[in-house]
Amino acid sequence: SYVEMLPLLKLIVTELKGKADLAEVSLNISGTCKAVHADQTLLYQLLFNLAENAVKYNRPGGSVDFTLSEINNCSVIQVTDTGIGISKEDLPHVFEPFYRADRSRSQKIPGSGLGLSVVKTIAESCGGDIRLESTAGVGTTITIVF
Ligand code: ATP
Ligand code: MG
Repeated sequence: SYVEMLPLLKLIVTELKGKADLAEVSLNISGTCKAVHADQTLLYQLLFNLAENAVKYNRPGGSVDFTLSEINNCSVIQVTDTGIGISKEDLPHVFEPFYRADRSRSQKIPGSGLGLSVVKTIAESCGGDIRLESTAGVGTTITIVF
């Protein structure tokens, strides 16, 4: 079936609001896009994992921006955070199951290293193309094109 992205993101923002408030991270949604032909539960899991990372690897006073757009008849979802970022050495590995970057380990941020491997599996099964850009100390942007 077709899934509307805006209500799904609003639900996720509502669910993460407590954690985000504690971390002093603001959550913002903007833009629109066409409904995506995929399973709603899988899309929810994909976006929730990305949103959760964007909050927990952020910094006090930071933000997470969810941006919806359409390019060439495709729906584009972007999650941008102002967090700790991912080093060049870690970038090629973050989608591997159980991989955790040194920085997150050293900062004692809890996690099992499975979220992004689930994200990748779901994106592939839904026909989504996923790209990750990150700069250590600046932040991370994940783009998914359906
Ligand atoms: P889990 O999601 O299973 O609870 P996790 O968050 O450690 O644990 P992933 O979501 O797979 O695992 O992420 C893998 C690693 O990639 C993280 O441990 C972290 O080092 C890094 N990472 C992921 N997302 C971000 C982000 N938005 N900013 C900075 N680092 C990130
Ligand atoms: Mg995670």
